[in-house]
Amino acid sequence: MIYSLPPWSCTKQKYIMLSMKIAGPRQLENDIDVYLTPLIEDLRKLWVDGVDVYDQSVQQTFRLCAMIFCTINDFSAYGNLSGYSVKGHHACPICEKNTSYIQLKHGKKTIYTRHRRYFKSYHPYRQLKKAFNRQNEIESAPKPLARHEIYDWVKDIVTIFNKTQKKDASGNNIWKKRSIFFHLPYWCDLHVRHCLDVMDVEKNVCDSLIDTLLNIKGKTKDGFKCHQDLVDMSMRDQLHPVS
Ligand SMILES: [Zn+2]
Repeated sequence: MIYSLPPWSCTKQKYIMLSMKIAGPRQLENDIDVYLTPLIEDLRKLWVDGVDVYDQSVQQTFRLCAMIFCTINDFSAYGNLSGYSVKGHHACPICEKNTSYIQLKHGKKTIYTRHRRYFKSYHPYRQLKKAFNRQNEIESAPKPLARHEIYDWVKDIVTIFNKTQKKDASGNNIWKKRSIFFHLPYWCDLHVRHCLDVMDVEKNVCDSLIDTLLNIKGKTKDGFKCHQDLVDMSMRDQLHPVS
């Protein structure tokens, strides 16, 4: 999609360019790299050599170079492109092993917590115990890995195609491959490589809120199991189930 067009027209069919279509019943996992190879080759050429382009207004050719600034995608595509496992306990590619999570006993889901760490150290919400998890938040936000650290992590990973990689014994399987984008000479130097498309995030958050506020059956997030989990976390006494 051409994101420099206004939001009301960039999603219209006539402005969408279908560059490729991958058919098949399964998720691609690492195999996406096979489809991306020609694109990466073109991008490499555009950066290293550039291409000659004719400028009609001055009637001469000039050398055009281009680079990828960042990719814009939803969260599962983030995993697919970056090689980071965006599922499970360490789902956040920025916080990595410092991702704060709780495995819910009754709801069975993994939830990601302690976002007050991202507030400034004097933010009043850090002191609000009752509204959150009954604790003050004193920790600061986890530091994202520096750009070359990630490359050091992934540079020796052998990408396995055509099957889902098994967990290795050390449990170090949060990086599943070296992203094919690292073939681009500038890729390790980018501080932000992948961006989430706000439209996706907004839609999911909005759906959850509306479904819960309107108490839509089968979709609301406010059920008995959630209330039991609140008991376990000793939060929000007024919502605890009464037997
Ligand atoms: Zn995070």
